Amino acid sequence: MLVYTMWFYIFAKKNMIAIYTRISKDRKKQVSIEAQSKKGMEYANSIGKDYKIYIDKGYSGTTVKRPSLIKLISDIENKIISDVWIYDQSRLERNIEVKIVLFTKFKLNNTIVHIFNAPINIDIQTEGLMNIMSIVNGMFVDLTKEKIVNALQINAENGKVHSVAPYGFSSDKNNKYIVNEYEAEIIKEIYSLSLSGVGSGAIGEILTKKGVLTAYNKLSGTLTTTNRNNVLKPLKTINKKDIKWSSTTILHIIKNPIYKGIRVFKGIEYNVPKIVEPDYWNVVNSNLQNNRNNSGSKVKHNYKLKGFLTCSICSRNYYGRTRLNLKDNAYICSSKRHKHLECNNRGINIPFLDNLTDYFLNNKQYEHIINNASYLIKKTDDKIVQLNDLKNKLIENESKRSNIVDAIGDGIIKPNDAKIKMEIINSTEMELNSQIKFLLNAENKSTYKNIINNIRIEFNKDSNVYCITYLTNYNDKVFFTYIFDKSYNFLESYVTNNEKIEYGTINLDMILIENDYLKNNKNFYKSSSLKQPI
Ligand SMILES: [Zn+2]
Repeated sequence: MLVYTMWFYIFAKKNMIAIYTRISKDRKKQVSIEAQSKKGMEYANSIGKDYKIYIDKGYSGTTVKRPSLIKLISDIENKIISDVWIYDQSRLERNIEVKIVLFTKFKLNNTIVHIFNAPINIDIQTEGLMNIMSIVNGMFVDLTKEKIVNALQINAENGKVHSVAPYGFSSDKNNKYIVNEYEAEIIKEIYSLSLSGVGSGAIGEILTKKGVLTAYNKLSGTLTTTNRNNVLKPLKTINKKDIKWSSTTILHIIKNPIYKGIRVFKGIEYNVPKIVEPDYWNVVNSNLQNNRNNSGSKVKHNYKLKGFLTCSICSRNYYGRTRLNLKDNAYICSSKRHKHLECNNRGINIPFLDNLTDYFLNNKQYEHIINNASYLIKKTDDKIVQLNDLKNKLIENESKRSNIVDAIGDGIIKPNDAKIKMEIINSTEMELNSQIKFLLNAENKSTYKNIINNIRIEFNKDSNVYCITYLTNYNDKVFFTYIFDKSYNFLESYVTNNEKIEYGTINLDMILIENDYLKNNKNFYKSSSLKQPI
């Protein structure tokens, strides 16, 4: 292992060192955050660097989806951070896939990694050693998982576990989670209502009014509860059939990561089928704070798209306006405030545009922008260059696979010799896919601000249609446009490549994008259109 001298350190860089600390949910035998930070600060002081502390409490090292880690990567890319310190390698990662993603990032940005009391140089030898460490760390997680699975199986065989699948799920013959389609629709409605600003209490009332059954209603018998708010702690027995949707139940549903496909059991994450997209789950949860004061059936209007909307006709902002009777619930051009300035563009229904934007984000419609911009990429657009490079490598790797398969078929190589080659191809595929995933997701943190740059709205009076155009941060010359009629029925959507305008030829490339979901779900934005079970 090659170790840099301290002298090199003190004079080579002026940027800050990140002290990255992590502790998982199962805290036994782990060095505390405080102890990790203390050691990191001592180290930073010893090499004379300013430091910034990153803490991921309760997150697993087998995933890159850790808030502080994601922040750290973005700080590295923004050149705020030049060095990263960790207590030991397992703080950073417990999985080879995660390791490859992180160290690729570090290499690209010339980030220097320090472990405990020395910087390391990621030469080939060290990398080999770290790969082994990573496999060992990963095995530790696998072993723990195995132990728990065994314990659960024994309990199940003894009939001790009577755990009921959470609302939205059922279990199949092997006790595995499967999605309960009807309940999944209710879950989706809860998320959608919450995102549109309805508080958890009001959501409960809406479901109760509709006669939607709770998880308890399906069971027979009674339930005895204690009123913890009452000093006498009186016991209350109610018929399970009479239990209504409470604010607490709704909140638990919104906050439960199981609905984005992650079941957390004893601090370990298990994959289960997802009901909502993880990005959407995150958006809904980060919006929860806004709903905190919404009680009863009162709806607080926090306009989600505030600051993102531009009038295509007069270039002024669109702003949200809601009248008391909720009938006039629209984003409108701010020119309407002054009669003599009025541009005559039309307002657009707020839930409609909010939901369309969620659809745009959650169904990754913006990826069409990345894909369709690929043949006109600018060298400066690193993200797209990297993505294309990775995609080409994937194609190349896949063709290697089919060559080997052919070679085996033709008797040129023995299956045993092909085995190692296949393993390399498989692990390369895994690496490439994880890098692509990382570029598309973790790095870009799918929040509005990170993806959407601007939304242009125009009601075209000649053709009687709405044109809603999304501009993203991926490429400012490639737009995504939806066309709806004045009753918000979907007509078509396309990607426009505007790149050529710069070179004097106004020649728009328009690529139609199929949107079967929008075509078949008229009024898809109305959250009250819940289907009842047959
Ligand atoms: Zn206007």
